[in-house]
Amino acid sequence: MNYSEPRKSMVDNQLRGRDIKDELVLKAMEKVPRHEFVPEEHKERAYGDFPVPIGLGQTISQPYVVAAMTEALTLKGGEKILEIGTGSGYQAAVLAEIAKKVYTIERIKELTEKSRETLKKLNYNNVKVVEGDGHEGYKEGFPYDGILVTAACQKIPEQLNEQLNEGGRIVIPIGDRSFQELFVFTKNKGKLEEKFLFDCRFVPMIGASGWNY
Ligand code: SAM
Repeated sequence: MNYSEPRKSMVDNQLRGRDIKDELVLKAMEKVPRHEFVPEEHKERAYGDFPVPIGLGQTISQPYVVAAMTEALTLKGGEKILEIGTGSGYQAAVLAEIAKKVYTIERIKELTEKSRETLKKLNYNNVKVVEGDGHEGYKEGFPYDGILVTAACQKIPEQLNEQLNEGGRIVIPIGDRSFQELFVFTKNKGKLEEKFLFDCRFVPMIGASGWNY
């Protein structure tokens, strides 16, 4: 199957056709082969306007959500970004098209290995996939110009706030297990300024300081 047509139509209809305006984000999503990040049995649905299962009870987010979260970071190119919740590796690839370096953390070993393999095959050499608990952030790369959290949290994990650069942004879904609100926080003189984006639904962020199941 030829995937370039569905990919172009995804960008035109689901992203440009809504409110995504950042050309860097649109170009990145025109380029990244999303079908490479979904399991064989779901490839034909890879460019649909919905999340797709990637196994182990997890999902690759809807294209619009990936675009809106990336746009909210207001990247210009050259940044160092931390993503929490690698999943398939798709969001990390989109970030890697724009930023200089992307660190991404995943708690499930199988997904860590699979996403690492996919990103390597597609030559995303500026992405480092780490197995671990995203509540801790990742000390090796900090401070980060942007942090993108793709699992639901009850509040901003303290370590993430500490690892964010002055002027940097955190995009994060906050709420309970079944319903969350997506926020972007900007660090201004050490304090986080909040902006609500939209209502959303993510899988929970599991861990000692999150949900434990
Ligand atoms: N960004 C992903 C993509 O592009 O495919 C989709 C992420 S999926 C909605 C959420 C991911 O967060 C799952 O893969 C899940 O295992 C992971 N996750 C949940 N709790 C976590 C934690 N404490 N640390 C790191 N990853 C976590």
